Amino acid sequence: MKRIRAPKELFDFAGELARAGKKAYLVGGAVRDYLLGREACDFDVATDARPEEVARLYRRVIPTGIKHGTVTVLWKGLEIEVTTFRTESGYADGRHPDKVEYASTIEEDLSRRDFAMNAMAFDLATELLVDPHGGQADLSGRLVRAVGDPFERFREDGLRPLRAIRFASQLGFEIDAPTLAAIRPSIPRFRLVSPERVRDELQKTLLSELPSRGLRLLEGTGLLEEIVPELSACRGVEQKGMHVFDVLDHLYASADASPPELVLRLAALLHDVGKPEAKAELPGEAPTFYRHEEYSARMSESILKRLKLPNAIVDEVAQLIRCHMFSYDDSWTDAAVRRFIARVGPERIEELFALRLADGAGILGRPIDPRSLDPLRARIDRVIAAKEAFGLADLAVKGGDLASIGVPPGRAMGAMLKELLEAVMDDPSLNERERLLEIAGRIKGKHGL
Ligand code: ATP
Ligand code: MG
Repeated sequence: MKRIRAPKELFDFAGELARAGKKAYLVGGAVRDYLLGREACDFDVATDARPEEVARLYRRVIPTGIKHGTVTVLWKGLEIEVTTFRTESGYADGRHPDKVEYASTIEEDLSRRDFAMNAMAFDLATELLVDPHGGQADLSGRLVRAVGDPFERFREDGLRPLRAIRFASQLGFEIDAPTLAAIRPSIPRFRLVSPERVRDELQKTLLSELPSRGLRLLEGTGLLEEIVPELSACRGVEQKGMHVFDVLDHLYASADASPPELVLRLAALLHDVGKPEAKAELPGEAPTFYRHEEYSARMSESILKRLKLPNAIVDEVAQLIRCHMFSYDDSWTDAAVRRFIARVGPERIEELFALRLADGAGILGRPIDPRSLDPLRARIDRVIAAKEAFGLADLAVKGGDLASIGVPPGRAMGAMLKELLEAVMDDPSLNERERLLEIAGRIKGKHGL
């Protein structure tokens, strides 16, 4: 049997419970990850001590989930979630267990857990593994398998089907046939799950090494249609030119090819989601997807808001998608380069380039040469090094200066500042206070002043 290399501090922590005559087991993801030879991310400990008893034994305790029997103990640099043995019964609303009952044995506690590989416990006093559901065998067989009857387990909590797919994607495992077969019939239960819980699992799926693995499972089980029907609509939408895939496979391949950062993975997955809507076909001609980046940006905003992603992420993703259709050649003037930087935002250029590489890989079905972006990157670096203006903040006049020549604050002033910025992007030598005020004086009439 593989060793569990938990940190020494965790055993010290368990010693305190042992001295009080209580049990302490490491449970859940940490046991699974150690047995897989990985590092554990967080430490969950199950104990027969009640939360109040745990709180009395340790100095630094946060009552994170007292209602569910959980407290967090801060111990020698570790953050340990300590939960009293529980059973769970009845999920009338499909979201939360109706009542949480304490259990007296670790075996009872393990039997409420979702998958056999997540239902093992490591006794921190004896260093023996408790594995009543065959978790170790599943790890060697690389299988995600429900504890007990999968239909029943999915009926208790509709999030579990999505978790099965998340773990299969993260670990590169298969889903055991009966567990997989129970997913589609559980969809009515899945619909009751809160978007926040769905979001968390979806994020983890997207950050797996090959997110397409999870995405294909979502599609095959009918969950993709539930979560992001806009993506399902991309299936079978063929594209011409260099493209080797339909729109949905193109999006999967782009997600696989993008760096494992949430914003980039989301942008890669959704960057063409508007193509079915933007599609226009003339008889006898290849379809066009004119302005699909606009459709895709707007749709991704509504998708990500629905999934309760933070606004900052929604905005970043939409902005990357909106800008993804640039096509550089050396006929671009410096003004065009400045406009490009202004539109994308200087801090977002490298992310947009990463999206471009992922998009390219998704078109051809193989990686593209990252050096293809070097010429544009060099032009951008030069413009930025020359400190030429590409945002209102860089402009040599501010609103206050315009007010002093009689421009009232509000729309007219906004429009005027924008026009001055346009002028400066065409000719950076204009970016001096006196010159800009002179231009402002000349164009005032045009703005109805
Ligand atoms: P990760 O490493 O991604 O955190 P994890 O297995 O620790 O994976 P958590 O969501 O942190 O997953 O849950 C901790 C443990 O709690 C799981 O291993 C499992 O035993 C149990 N668990 C979590 N969610 C559920 C659920 N919806 N139904 C049943 N058991 C669950
Ligand atoms: Mg965990």
